[in-house]
Amino acid sequence: MHDVVIIGGGISAHTAALYTARANLKPLVLTGPDLDQLSLTTTVENYPGFPDGVQGPDLVDNAKKQAQKFGAEYKTGLVESVTKKDNHYVLTVKDTTYEARTVIICTGASARLLKIPGEQEYFGKGVSTCAVCDAALYHDKIAVVVGGGDSAMEESLALYKFAKKVIIIHRKDTFRASKIMQERIKKLTDKIEIIWDTTVTEVTGDGKFVTGVKTKNLKTNKEETIACDGMFLAIGHIPNTGFLNNITLDEHKYIITDKKSHTNLEGVYAAGDCQDSVFKQAVTSAGTGCQAAIEAERYIEHLQASGEYK
Ligand code: NDP
Repeated sequence: MHDVVIIGGGISAHTAALYTARANLKPLVLTGPDLDQLSLTTTVENYPGFPDGVQGPDLVDNAKKQAQKFGAEYKTGLVESVTKKDNHYVLTVKDTTYEARTVIICTGASARLLKIPGEQEYFGKGVSTCAVCDAALYHDKIAVVVGGGDSAMEESLALYKFAKKVIIIHRKDTFRASKIMQERIKKLTDKIEIIWDTTVTEVTGDGKFVTGVKTKNLKTNKEETIACDGMFLAIGHIPNTGFLNNITLDEHKYIITDKKSHTNLEGVYAAGDCQDSVFKQAVTSAGTGCQAAIEAERYIEHLQASGEYK
């Protein structure tokens, strides 16, 4: 029986592991096969404490090493279910089960991709899912943003500060983003161009970096190649919560937590992007990982004090 099992392998999971390890709870971290969002990015310039920036993969690796230094144990395994049994939880990974008094879910959210030729090949070499992370690299360059929601508007605003030109490509003739964000974008005609009713069909490059995107107008079927240095995908995120049965999710499948990272189940907490549809920042992920860990520690203390710790 573990005091704490943490599900995930991103910065929120490592932070929760660090805090619970330092609280002597010997956390077990079960990490799935997919890389976390930070490991997919390059330079992170907005994580406090790194005035020269830090590589996303290094940040995550170091957080993991820090947690391991204090005794966190890591295993690879995709958790398939979390079920309540008496006053603890049973987690299944293929044929193995783990029992835990508390569970911290840090499974993240995966950026939706277009699944078009060149997208994977140039991921991290011009194709990105985070303008907030990469915008500063686009000084005097041309960036394409795909999408018509608030994320696309935000990504475009972030890029506008640096890029020579931002081209928003949207599959409809109206944005679904909030009015205020749309208005802000539409005013910036000096550097922002909007291409409506159009999808991106291919990312092209020179073998090293992106050099353009191929597009197709959905009304006229006209195909074009647009020269650019990068393509930012802002077509939504998919929270990795599909394996959860008894946890309350919102309409977009994000886990609903309270201000203390509690889910609807006693002793089960959630942190990072799987419960955050708004901020999705490395530092907020780490912050909620810390909150969840402290609450898990308090819950264990409560079990011990009330004689329910078995
Ligand atoms: P949304 O789901 O709101 O928007 C996704 C956009 O991507 C839509 O315009 C959609 O097109 C388009 N899209 C989806 N799939 C494809 C595809 N396969 N090909 C081309 N285009 C596609 O996601 P967001 O991430 O923008 O926002 C998620 C939530 O987070 C929203 O509730 C939003 O308000 C919120 N948010 C709030 C922010 C803020 O308040 N500052 C900032 C960012 C997000 P279509 O319109 O045709 O469906």
